[in-house]
Amino acid sequence: MAFDLNTAINYLPGIGPQRAKLLEAELGIKTWHDLLYNFPYKHIDRSRLYKIRELTTDMPFVQVLGQFLSFEEAGQGRKHRLTGHFWDGDMFLDVTWFHGINYIKKSVKIRKDYILFGRPGVYGGRLSVIHPDLDNPESMTLSKMSMQPYYSTTERMKKAGMTSRTLENFTSSLFGKLTWTLPETLPGYLIQRLHLMPLDKALRTAHYPATADELAAANMRLKFEELFFIQLVIMSYARKRQQERIGRRFTRVGEMFNTFYHRYLPFPLTEAQKRVIREMHADMKSGHQMNRLLQGDVGSGKTLVALMVMLIAIDNGCQTCIMAPTEILAEQHLQTFRDFLRDMPVRVELLTGNVKGKKRTAIEKGLLDGSIHILIGTHAVIEDNVQFNDLGLVIIDEQHRFGVAQRAKLWEKGGEEIVNSKLSNRKFPHVLVMTATPIPRTLAMTLYGDLDVSVIDELPPGRKPVRTMHIYDNQPEKLYQGVIREIEAGHQVYFVYPLVKESEKLDLKNVQDEFIHLKEVFPQYRISMVHGKMKPAEKDAEMQRFVSGETQILVATTVIEVGVNVPNASVMIIQNAERFGLSQLHQLRGRVGRGAEQSYCILVSNFKLSAETRKRLQIMTETNDGFEIAEADLKLRGPGDLEGTQQSGIAFNLKLANLGRDGQLVQLARDTASFVLDADPDLLAADNALLRQHMLELRKEHRDWSQIS
Ligand code: ADP
Ligand code: MG
Repeated sequence: MAFDLNTAINYLPGIGPQRAKLLEAELGIKTWHDLLYNFPYKHIDRSRLYKIRELTTDMPFVQVLGQFLSFEEAGQGRKHRLTGHFWDGDMFLDVTWFHGINYIKKSVKIRKDYILFGRPGVYGGRLSVIHPDLDNPESMTLSKMSMQPYYSTTERMKKAGMTSRTLENFTSSLFGKLTWTLPETLPGYLIQRLHLMPLDKALRTAHYPATADELAAANMRLKFEELFFIQLVIMSYARKRQQERIGRRFTRVGEMFNTFYHRYLPFPLTEAQKRVIREMHADMKSGHQMNRLLQGDVGSGKTLVALMVMLIAIDNGCQTCIMAPTEILAEQHLQTFRDFLRDMPVRVELLTGNVKGKKRTAIEKGLLDGSIHILIGTHAVIEDNVQFNDLGLVIIDEQHRFGVAQRAKLWEKGGEEIVNSKLSNRKFPHVLVMTATPIPRTLAMTLYGDLDVSVIDELPPGRKPVRTMHIYDNQPEKLYQGVIREIEAGHQVYFVYPLVKESEKLDLKNVQDEFIHLKEVFPQYRISMVHGKMKPAEKDAEMQRFVSGETQILVATTVIEVGVNVPNASVMIIQNAERFGLSQLHQLRGRVGRGAEQSYCILVSNFKLSAETRKRLQIMTETNDGFEIAEADLKLRGPGDLEGTQQSGIAFNLKLANLGRDGQLVQLARDTASFVLDADPDLLAADNALLRQHMLELRKEHRDWSQIS
């Protein structure tokens, strides 16, 4: 019978129907291939025997060859223990068991050789090992005397008696059957150039390395491959788009831009704002479609940058459109733009789901006849087939809220469909996406690998960094006194809660109850409330009361997380702060510190905090730098949990590589993909046949990739 890697898993000794089912259900392992790619999560070096004399308590697992010379039992109840005196011909070591004592007494023999495997520690003031593994030296095969693989198992597997050792036996019998060389997936010239381990060796080594160095080289090869193909897909797509998509040439920096810049701008631009505007203008006059990501921390002034590049587009006879993730934000943009533009002859309109009837008809007409220069909307609007006379630039604000899959969709709408409207001349509008969630570079290269990136790395002058404190929720009085002080000084205060209304399951504060409670605490002040369950009109009215200063306190859910700008607000109080992620906390904090006054962010939590949560809150109190926070977030949680990456699928398809930890490899993968595509853009060379084939397979496997790509 001929075997290949698609052979079902039950064609291995020891795997009957029962175990095959369990392997599939618990680990998704159906074939030899799946078992091969089920990598160990760690190895323990069993290649070396130690002498007791060498052991110290800071060592990881070690093994010692020796014999038990005697045993003694001591203690009562929970302290009841069995201690064996283990002798390696030179010194003694205490070996202690608290459980299974009868079994040990029966099965472990005196004056017989054992390989003892455990972690050295101290018990009762003496060097000892607790609950070691004991192996018969004769039964230790060579593979087990080297780096031993440890495989993940689940509760159900453990119950069925399937341990890491069981899986080890499966893989070792699999390797016994893999007598042929596994086919290579990377071309020889890349393997040589990067000194990579061949795939066949890497796969075998990843399970059974001889040394730690060899394991590292195998992992490097396998991780590189994962990352390389992602980059190859992303970059080949980006290049194709770059070639195919002719953009309008916005060569003019004309009257609108100049008039605004010289006569209307209320403050000088920061150097970073000037630089990113130049970068975008260079794109927009290149003749290719701009596809750019603008990153800038909260409050760095992205809105103004957006407005100014829109003016360039308008100067070149085009219409523009900006999309916000929420209606509140869209309305705020309308206000901001109108305030900035004052009496300039630029027509700005807002189109949301709320705009209906005559008003909507008028706007639709204005878009078609070209009299509307700037359309502001939520993405819901764009998903309807809004038609423009000549749309030249699409801006997507607070992109991180949309998620990658949604971005792909917006892209389509922003690109093809709008463009396909009959009045268009089939040139693609330039696309700018803006995000305030700073994304670590290596993650950006993957999630936004098809975009060029501009960064505003400077805040407008005169901002005082927000002071952040973490307190527990047992002293509300002190907190309330602080609130009164700030409001008496003429400022406004946010209270943010994780829930809209009381929940039976979660013991968390909710907006509706707290609204009533705070009214009792602060009878002298007026309070607004906004949350996601309110009708949009109601929500806007409440928000407006706070923006205008009519109310001093705003209680809210995270609907205010994104972009809301009330410079007079100086305190952000986040209740149940333990419930929020780092980037969310950072976004919320960004709502204050927007004026000239000292602002505060108070993180209120309960006492029961996990180590990770404690760390999160601590990071918030230590830094205001969004990039630092994003890096920390990536390290703490891994990319799969980061906002915006959930739907990406990409982060999850990585088996070995970690976008947080393997930054350098991501860079290498990107550089290599770029090197390959420079020489052979369509991968038509014979040398690249493997790459071409593998890429086609990946596209079929990962439909989410083909959405971005
Ligand atoms: P974000 O980047 O978070 O969207 P905004 O665009 O809302 O930030 O800007 C935050 C605040 O900073 C706004 O009130 C805006 O008017 C102001 N601002 C923007 N650019 C400058 C600048 N160069 N100098 C001073 N204030 C600025
Ligand atoms: Mg903004």
